[in-house]
Amino acid sequence: MSFSEAGASALGIFGGTFDPIHYGHLRLAETAREALGLAGVRLTPAGQPPHRATPGASGAHRLAMARLAAADNPAFEVDPAEVESAQASFTILTLERLRATLGTERPLVLLLGVDAFLGLPTWRRWTELFDFAHVAVANRPGYSLDESRLPDDLARHVEQRRAAPEALAGAPAGHLTSFSMTPLAISATDIRSRAANGQSLRYLLPPPVLDYISRHQLYF
Ligand code: ATP
Repeated sequence: MSFSEAGASALGIFGGTFDPIHYGHLRLAETAREALGLAGVRLTPAGQPPHRATPGASGAHRLAMARLAAADNPAFEVDPAEVESAQASFTILTLERLRATLGTERPLVLLLGVDAFLGLPTWRRWTELFDFAHVAVANRPGYSLDESRLPDDLARHVEQRRAAPEALAGAPAGHLTSFSMTPLAISATDIRSRAANGQSLRYLLPPPVLDYISRHQLYF
């Protein structure tokens, strides 16, 4: 039985284009697990992301790379549903689907880097996300969570929902918290551009993902 099915402790949900998945993503998920006391983290590669250009690698490749990256961590699981769905990927739909299988009581924590958090008001039915999950935000080099500069609607949620990480276990959804991770200025955009320029990608992402990229000639 996987950690998603077992027990009632909080479960992390971490979505992204993962084009490709890299150590910034993995470190965020691992730090969140530890800092927020999560049973595990479900890495959820997006299918066709609504907010951005078509990814450089197909959904099948991005899913395969996420699986390789997660394989050696028993606290990580990869959720293929968004890639396998014909629908556009919206996080709210993923959370609705999870609630349908996991029930309404289990704490779910949506994990976001600061850049993703700042873009939250552009997401489909974004205020409803808090009905389904807590939100936890990690720092990311190059982006600041300066609360005095947040758009009004996001600032209101920060004010009303702010909670300490320990509070997440006490409710299924609705809180907003932050946690700090070792800052890693790694981005998939930079990795794709290095690959296209024939530069080394070593030490930016796990070796099995590196091998996969070169075997399938991705991003060249
Ligand atoms: P791209 O450069 O293609 O936009 P990315 O590296 O930002 O990709 P995404 O798949 O878009 O990766 O990001 C998924 C999630 O991971 C987002 O919540 C994002 O904020 C977070 N994230 C990605 N890289 C880092 C990093 N280096 N540090 C902290 N958070 C990160």
